Amino acid sequence: MLGTEDRPLRIAIVGAGPSGFFAAGALFQQKNLQVQIDMFDRLPAPFGLVRYGVAPDHPKIKSVTKVYERTAANPNFRFFGNVDFGTDITLEELRQHYDRIIFAVGAQADRRLNIPGEDLDGSISATEFVAWYNGHPDYADLDVDLSIENVLVVGVGNVAMDVARILAKTVDELRDTDIADHALEKLAQSRVKNIYIVARRGPAQVKFTNAEVREFGELSDAEPTIKVEELAVDPLSAKEIESDNVAQRNLEILREFAEREPTGKSRRVHFRFLESPVELSGEDGKITAARIEHNELRAVEGGYLNAVGTGKFETRPVGLVLRSVGYRGVPLPDVPYDKRTGTIPNRQGRVYDPETGNLVPGLYVVGWAKRGPSGVIGTNKPDAVETVEQLLEDMTSTPGATHTDADAIPALLRSRNVPYVDMDAWRKIDEQEVQAGEPQGRPRVKFVTGTDLLHAAGIAPQGTPAPEPVNA
Ligand code: NAP
Repeated sequence: MLGTEDRPLRIAIVGAGPSGFFAAGALFQQKNLQVQIDMFDRLPAPFGLVRYGVAPDHPKIKSVTKVYERTAANPNFRFFGNVDFGTDITLEELRQHYDRIIFAVGAQADRRLNIPGEDLDGSISATEFVAWYNGHPDYADLDVDLSIENVLVVGVGNVAMDVARILAKTVDELRDTDIADHALEKLAQSRVKNIYIVARRGPAQVKFTNAEVREFGELSDAEPTIKVEELAVDPLSAKEIESDNVAQRNLEILREFAEREPTGKSRRVHFRFLESPVELSGEDGKITAARIEHNELRAVEGGYLNAVGTGKFETRPVGLVLRSVGYRGVPLPDVPYDKRTGTIPNRQGRVYDPETGNLVPGLYVVGWAKRGPSGVIGTNKPDAVETVEQLLEDMTSTPGATHTDADAIPALLRSRNVPYVDMDAWRKIDEQEVQAGEPQGRPRVKFVTGTDLLHAAGIAPQGTPAPEPVNA
């Protein structure tokens, strides 16, 4: 019987971010269940969005990795980093070797504005910018030009707050974090003066949370700027947020900002409401201006307050546009995908085929790939528990895998020359990063390329030149 001493339940988790680790933690917590978990990630380092998404100046949020490390220390847990699902290992192979597969792949891409000029140089997604300053190997070479004065951040969620704050902070405010060295160097040369955070709707409809917006009032050389008249709340919006404490408090914070006298700090963070960029224009392929339409709110069926253009426009000079309008999941080879939501179609975590509506036995999903890109890191815990509950309910109805030899997967990867990073190898990387950070009073100095990560793990393919030692 599956899940016993004789025949432990073999689980593959694809994705080593928060939702994957919460799912593993929930499985290990089951009494009377013998489970072996193998976790795969296409990156050499684990922890996904905690390492590559959470802002470097929010270290408390990152401390959740201690919980994940405890999960990883379970003798029935193995990590296979640097293994790309669909390329290095297929769904069919996982199905042969594991009784159940849980997808925890997050939402790797971004939503677009779909306006002319969006692909000009200097117009990038916040997703890319965040990955760049967090040292994500795919974005180490991103060309971010900060020799410009005006930045437009489109969207008013917490990601918009993160990117605007990183641009607004002085290097001294970021120096003791684990921000990527390449980003710190670029930010040290930054000429940015104005950061416009633009909301298509009003101040009552912002998506950021109180602590995140409050930080703009506490920066050492940047100050928030708001036109007090833009904070007027129409009756429908007032009704919408009458019992929403976060929204009420956001408004209070914004009003307090609007009442402040200018103090002459070098940078200004302008909060602008009821504005939508409708076209980006440039010279020699590089962005120089955004044409912005002013909006009004109009209720649509169901009461949702929509932004509708008024036909009034203005043009604002900008040298960098960061669209921060949400993440989006990408399809995985052979795995069902819902184009509309960018998620893996599921019922409470059980994957189903959108064409037939039938459940796909043995496949499960957690996190942003399951519910879309919403919520904080902790939201993924109850989300993972829900999926694990479904998985356990299916324990007797869904048959197990045919191949149960635990050595078969590492052997398969070795036969394909896939230099995978196991937990011991990750610990080597981790130790060196932390050590490099110590003399600088930083939590760590990250290795930011795949090659450097593999070298640090001591498993680089032969013939690859060794990297310069950190802080040499
Ligand atoms: P989000 O909270 O969903 O915010 C997206 C923003 O983009 C909204 O303001 C939305 O406005 C706007 N938007 C969408 N389409 C637009 C368009 N075409 N034009 C203009 N604006 C548009 O998403 P997020 O900021 O990417 O954050 C994702 C999740 O991660 C959230 O749950 C967030 O709280 C969480 N997160 C948390 C932290 C933290 O705890 N410190 C940090 C980062 C992220 P509308 O409302 O008008 O649609």
